[in-house]
Amino acid sequence: MDQKNWKMETKAVQSGYVPENGGPRIVPIVQSTTYKYNDAQSVADLFDLKTSGFFYTRLANPTVDALEKKIADLEGGVAAVAVNAGQTANAHAVQNVARCGDHIVAAASLYGGTVSLFSNTLKKAGIEFTFIDPESSEEEIQAAIRPNTKAVFGEMLANPALIVLDVEKFAKVAHRNGIPLIVDNTFPTPFLCRPFEFGADIVTHSTTKYLDGHATSVGGIVVEKGGFDWANGKFPEFSEPDESYHGLIYTKNFASCPFSVKLRAQWVRDMGTPMMPFNAFLTNLGVETLALRMERHSSNALNLARFLEKHPKVSWVNYPGLESSPMHKRALKYMPKGQSGVLCFGVKGGKEAGEIVMNSLKLAAIVVHVADARTSVLHPASMTHRQLSEEELKAAGVSPDLIRVSVGIEHIDDIMEDFDQALNKA
Ligand SMILES: *Cc1c(COP(=O)(O)O)cnc(C)c1O
Repeated sequence: MDQKNWKMETKAVQSGYVPENGGPRIVPIVQSTTYKYNDAQSVADLFDLKTSGFFYTRLANPTVDALEKKIADLEGGVAAVAVNAGQTANAHAVQNVARCGDHIVAAASLYGGTVSLFSNTLKKAGIEFTFIDPESSEEEIQAAIRPNTKAVFGEMLANPALIVLDVEKFAKVAHRNGIPLIVDNTFPTPFLCRPFEFGADIVTHSTTKYLDGHATSVGGIVVEKGGFDWANGKFPEFSEPDESYHGLIYTKNFASCPFSVKLRAQWVRDMGTPMMPFNAFLTNLGVETLALRMERHSSNALNLARFLEKHPKVSWVNYPGLESSPMHKRALKYMPKGQSGVLCFGVKGGKEAGEIVMNSLKLAAIVVHVADARTSVLHPASMTHRQLSEEELKAAGVSPDLIRVSVGIEHIDDIMEDFDQALNKA
């Protein structure tokens, strides 16, 4: 059987790990920092990246390796590097192409943590960011690009605005300028969207969300599509000798996946940011049911969105799967199988009414998390964004009445009943 032709559902279960004769059926948790070799030369060759293998879990570990292979396969990429958080995945993806003095163009609809990483922490390290409207035209994207721009960055399905990135448009402009498009694909997951098919070069994930899917493990992963021309003169760190590895050249010595080898060899090695084996084990277990869960998350979210749209206490609903969403057409193009499990709505009566609804929910819990099996809600105006004035909230795309729902995989009737009773108290 040719694994390449496997469907997504099969890959989610089977890819990444092949048991040896008599070996464990399930990817074992290799809870070991190091690995034993019979002679010094074997270890020296590993250190010089002359041979591949495991020698220290800060660089690679068999449990983590199995997850990396599976996610790379699901996304349709050549390699992946798992790290300790989604934050690290986005940081390393950018750091791997841009250094002090370089510049990145980012579609502005981003996860709050990514905004903070880019506009504070990486900025202080000397990387400049220009945030542009995700609805910018090709000309407007082009106008933001400078000679020192090293990548374009965007989020596939950004929350809470739930904007679907027009990947093809951003990829076109990036490639015209010889730079890669990096896409954070956390919300759709590879089951609902594979950004590589639309021109993205690098995909990142917070595996903490739907890939784990059960709210057990914080983690991240960076996936490389392969085939990008890193030797085009814009990326000397890829095409010139790395003295920390005796003059190794990533585009020559690792021609099929130079981005991933460089990211692991420089950033994960030096910053000490790998995913840990137990988290990889749990995440891998989560991914086995990814297809089933994403189908249910998506259908539950669509059904709840339709229910809320008709509810007399609800003033508006935003879900890309709804015909009323301005993103509907694009969502069907990029995510035809479903539009993931997050929706937003407003309650008549504004912020106070919103708080009453939140406090009255019984099945849906108030948590600062999205994308796990349990339905949860968040009221940004009184929680994550409570320090902002009404005007600042507006600028952030957060209306005072906005309630964000991460729709779980419980039975839709129970979810709807819970929202109905809570709304009727407002
Ligand atoms: C949660 C999230 C992150 C950050 O991931 P952590 O695992 O919490 O570090 C990045 N991007 C998106 C879209 C997210 O939802």
